[in-house]
Amino acid sequence: LLYNQVQDLKGNIRVYCRVRPFLPKQSDRRSTVEHIGENGNIVIVDHNKQGKDARKIFAFNKVFGEKTTQSEIFSDTQPLIRSVLDGYNVCIFAYGQTGSGKTYTMSGPDITAEETWGVNYRALNDLFEISQSRQGIISYEVSVQMIEIYNEQVRDLLVVDGSNRRYPFILLYIRNYSQLNGLNIPDASLVAVKCTKDVLELMKVGQGNRVVGATVLNERSSRSHSVLTIHVQGKELASGSKLRGCLHLVDLAGSERVDKSEATGDRLKEAQHINRSLSALGDVISALAQKSSHIPYRNSKLTQVLQDSLGGQAKTLMFVHLNPEANAFGETISTLKFAERVA
Ligand code: ADP
Ligand code: MG
Repeated sequence: LLYNQVQDLKGNIRVYCRVRPFLPKQSDRRSTVEHIGENGNIVIVDHNKQGKDARKIFAFNKVFGEKTTQSEIFSDTQPLIRSVLDGYNVCIFAYGQTGSGKTYTMSGPDITAEETWGVNYRALNDLFEISQSRQGIISYEVSVQMIEIYNEQVRDLLVVDGSNRRYPFILLYIRNYSQLNGLNIPDASLVAVKCTKDVLELMKVGQGNRVVGATVLNERSSRSHSVLTIHVQGKELASGSKLRGCLHLVDLAGSERVDKSEATGDRLKEAQHINRSLSALGDVISALAQKSSHIPYRNSKLTQVLQDSLGGQAKTLMFVHLNPEANAFGETISTLKFAERVA
């Protein structure tokens, strides 16, 4: 068993690709996804080209087609949740252009319908269930932080009194002392929770805070990264020894490139911040994958926040999302190239 665990640690960066289905109102039903192989291959076709040039193949740890259910997605994620309770740090990212299904994977489309729940809720349910099952052996304390990174500024999303809803927002500092044990943003609200329902309540507060300041409701959320962090502290009752683990669930800003000739002012600034932070994330993960001696954490707020949870013994799972529409071909290719670099 121990040997297997050690083996498992070596493969601590995984990349899963998920293709969302066509949405009901879409009339052009030509898919850019021509084939999904069982070994994690995906073949993309450009409908504007003919023959061999029209096709490109990419390879990942797994590729999930449009019929994949939320529960199937989660069953491949579940082992990571257990490892948080064993004292590991885990990051789960959702990457992709706006509208490709990031929030669908992480949160799900409808909180009232349990079968549609995303990774977040299922992970929490599991976390509490496993910790219950260890009752009498290890006692766990679980607490939650939720922050947003927008234009390279970090904002607390769990401020309940509304004080953070007014401009100028109170911004948070990131610290990287080892004594902090993964609490890199010590000033962000840290709320103790006992069950999934507690966390659901908090996530509502977080969502409420997130949309404030947005010109169009959906827009800000597609231009900021949201990070939900579950901190776990365990105490082994017999020996008194302690462990800590944390789970970061990250819904990234939309990866679409903005046409520089069209975007101006705030929109251009946002786009540049997003590009920079997503490429910084890609740089860090690919440096880790290549076991490089220098890992460039300092190039973005996102990688600074997650520094203790990227690399070392930590485990990373990246879901890359594809929109199958023919007119998304360009973004699909750039998403796949990003993903291939980190895989
Ligand atoms: P993003 O967060 O990347 O902008 P969303 O998660 O909001 O994208 O998804 C865009 C739309 O597609 C939503 O209407 C969502 O319900 C739908 N959708 C995304 N993924 C799926 C899926 N796997 N199955 C069914 N509908 C999906
Ligand atoms: Mg979204």
